[in-house]
Amino acid sequence: MSATQTAHNAPLRALENSYLELPPGFYARVAPTPVARPRLLRVNRDLAEQLGLDPNELASEAGTALLAGNQVPAGAEPLAMAYAGHQYGQFVPSLGDGRAILLGERIDRDGQRFDIQLKGAGRTPFSRMGDGRAVLGPVLREYVLGEAMVGLGIPTTRALAMVASGEEVYRERIEQGAVLTRVAASHVRVGTFEYFARRGDVDSVRQLADYVIQRHYPDCRQADNPYQALLAASAARQGELIARWLLVGFIHGVMNTDNMTISGETIDYGPCAFMDTYQPDAVYSSIDRFGRYAYQQQPSIGMWNLTQLAQCLLPLLDTDDDVAQQQARAALSAYVERFEETYASGLRAKIGLADGQAGDQREDDALVQDLLARMAENNVDFTNCFRLLCELKRDDPVADPPLRALFAEPDAFDSWAEKWRARLARQSGNDAERSAAMRAVNPAYIPRNHRVQQVIDAAEENDFKPLENLLQVVSHPFEEHAALAEYRLPPRPEEVVRQTFCGT
Ligand code: AMP
Ligand code: MG
Repeated sequence: MSATQTAHNAPLRALENSYLELPPGFYARVAPTPVARPRLLRVNRDLAEQLGLDPNELASEAGTALLAGNQVPAGAEPLAMAYAGHQYGQFVPSLGDGRAILLGERIDRDGQRFDIQLKGAGRTPFSRMGDGRAVLGPVLREYVLGEAMVGLGIPTTRALAMVASGEEVYRERIEQGAVLTRVAASHVRVGTFEYFARRGDVDSVRQLADYVIQRHYPDCRQADNPYQALLAASAARQGELIARWLLVGFIHGVMNTDNMTISGETIDYGPCAFMDTYQPDAVYSSIDRFGRYAYQQQPSIGMWNLTQLAQCLLPLLDTDDDVAQQQARAALSAYVERFEETYASGLRAKIGLADGQAGDQREDDALVQDLLARMAENNVDFTNCFRLLCELKRDDPVADPPLRALFAEPDAFDSWAEKWRARLARQSGNDAERSAAMRAVNPAYIPRNHRVQQVIDAAEENDFKPLENLLQVVSHPFEEHAALAEYRLPPRPEEVVRQTFCGT
């Protein structure tokens, strides 16, 4: 190999590809299609370092060429993964990576394996009618939302880089093309299992399950029934994930089974949104006309999706179908348990009630639910309500005014606060300790929709300052950023974003 080639490929060196060890029916080998004029928009330096990559090399011309798909890293064997999926409840037997290409995998500093995938890298055998491309707005949204999730401590795929392609992409209007480099614990989805199960290809289902156990759930190998353990483990992670979405007011927007990872990471930030005012039936996605994926539907949709996964695994669970069904049900109960535990204890923590302290948990849960009901009736901003609650004093209403002012009827807050204070009086610890604990779970900053929209509008005019500002606050959402305090504000009426789009 010549010296120039080596230098060219340095930025993404030594990729592995364990997925290639699976049979050919699992993927299509395909190289990215080069773009006209790649221009680096951003490298995620922290993530690069975590992956043992040099951010400066990635940001170089050679790095940009790799991140655009104009060069393939030395030794890499790119592929598009096959998968199926239920979209809005309808089964689609063949979806697959229509515009995403897996370059390979890297082992990070902690020994964890991660996929490195280019999204928007051109057509693949799974593209159907699509152009294989991505556009700037949704790429920015995915980058920002992923970093916000990291800041919030919620499992997620992340963007390693964004590159403008210098090409026009045709959507509802002409858009600027872009390529996102996505990093994921893996891209195996519920829909990957469905792809083989629906064809009756039990051998492939088993090979995929073995792969997933090895990669994500190695402890399952020791279980009496490793496949049941896999289902339970994946279900528990989903339960935790969805509970944590609810705790920060996140609406994924398109929880099709092809958009649900087996690893339990949030994936595919399309028409997603963080709520401003608390409305349990909130829907932002322009294509979710019946509210299937509304905020409060997410826990039951999670179960629906896992039921599809369980269906795929039945033949592996037991040769007797009744026994297999029974095993699947038992495994799925892990979802409900983990969801309920994470959600309830998370809500109690949001209002400053420490677990195991002087309270009846059912009464405490009712106390939080009462607050949520009052928030919904009074059009209260979800994030700001909980963040302002951190500042309240137990025995003195001096800090109450900004919070009660969020309620259309401030009395609705006062009568709740009276009950809350009576409850706090039964728990030890002082105001300062409780405030600190509450501030660690109630973010001051979320990527509000109008701010994401501003980031996109500005970037389309080549102004990336709003992106940098928003990333700064959402990457450390529990800290105060005095110079960027306006990022805490809800949208003014004319700024409200009512709908989000998938942009595919
Ligand atoms: P998504 O809405 O991104 O979850 O994608 C759903 C399916 O449509 C997946 O199989 C994608 O690969 C495919 N898809 C989405 N956008 C495109 C595109 N522009 N070109 C080709 N395939 C696409
Ligand atoms: Mg998808």
